[in-house]
Amino acid sequence: MVRMKYKKGLSSNVIFLPYDKIEDSKRLSSFEIIMKYRNFNLLDTFSKGNLVGVKLYFGEDCDCNFIDPEFVSSTINMLRQRSVDPILCDTTNKYNNRFDNIYKHINTIRDNTDFTYDCSNVPFVMLDGVNGYSEVVRNTTQTTNYSEMATLSDHDQVYLAGELENMKGLIIFSRLTPHHRSGMQGAINNIGFGLASRKGKVRQHSVSKPQVDLDKCVLCGKCIYVCPVKAISIINKRIVIDGNKCIDCGKCVEYAYRGDISYQWNATQEHCQRTMASHALGVANMFSSKIIYCNFLTNFSNPNEKKGDTMNIGILFSKDPVAIDHASIELIKAYDKRLLPQMASRDVDYNIQLEYGEMIGLGTRQYKLTTIAY
Ligand code: SF4
Repeated sequence: MVRMKYKKGLSSNVIFLPYDKIEDSKRLSSFEIIMKYRNFNLLDTFSKGNLVGVKLYFGEDCDCNFIDPEFVSSTINMLRQRSVDPILCDTTNKYNNRFDNIYKHINTIRDNTDFTYDCSNVPFVMLDGVNGYSEVVRNTTQTTNYSEMATLSDHDQVYLAGELENMKGLIIFSRLTPHHRSGMQGAINNIGFGLASRKGKVRQHSVSKPQVDLDKCVLCGKCIYVCPVKAISIINKRIVIDGNKCIDCGKCVEYAYRGDISYQWNATQEHCQRTMASHALGVANMFSSKIIYCNFLTNFSNPNEKKGDTMNIGILFSKDPVAIDHASIELIKAYDKRLLPQMASRDVDYNIQLEYGEMIGLGTRQYKLTTIAY
């Protein structure tokens, strides 16, 4: 499937459910009305029997900014009522942290929060496999205009979670948070980084091959054994990695549990955001219009009140990841600029992903905001 191009001058629809215009007790029912209402064509996106992934951002260690599970459960129920088959899904995360295989991932979610995927009573699937090596490679050039994009060739091949091939649609739940390199973790990040394979994630954050720490290496040779392309050898009693052969699979890093082989997270913010947007385009191309994005602008610390008080702006819905992220930023600015650092890093220009995403046909920053409060 080829995703439609976003032409200059055209805008994407973004629906806004403002919390300050509805009673607290009606938030969930209003969310359900918007998801189900035919004119917005959200849940009608999926057909009977479709296997649809509900992708959450499960957070990092000690990050408890989770989306309220009742919205997740409600979405699962609405899909089931339509005979659509939902699963909860995510991918593993880089190397040697608490998300690098399925057990660590699930334990971390349980340790950090009372959120459990069990509450929705549907399967939880790691789309890149139990260890992150299930991968599908996609070329994004079919939807690009080379005459406008001299730099695109660096990013035109993307590495995505392998199980995406078996899905028929996606619902992407994002709660925007800052990120030290991509600036913000919104819809683009949630599919571009969050649905990349291990290699795809590494390529977004690193521009060098794995490095050997000679002080830690004991020449056990396990890395030589696991390397699938025989890029590692011992020369003059030292482990040497041939960068021309290395395909960034990350297996040597995983097996070097002493930390004697590691990646350098040295990508610039431009590289990180551009490759992230390219990976997002790879995902978008796989599903065409069968993706719904929901950005939750909720649970901000209230700058006016004492610690512990939270502020909620509302929920955004769209089928365009660029438009919904852009609308999220602009809504925050209009609501209270002091909240922006809770959503986007001060030190990073988060606009790179929006500009580049628009340039490669991922979406458009032009949007039509429809505010709905039932
Ligand atoms: S990352 Fe993979 S391909 Fe590269 S040296 Fe390590 S094991 Fe070999």
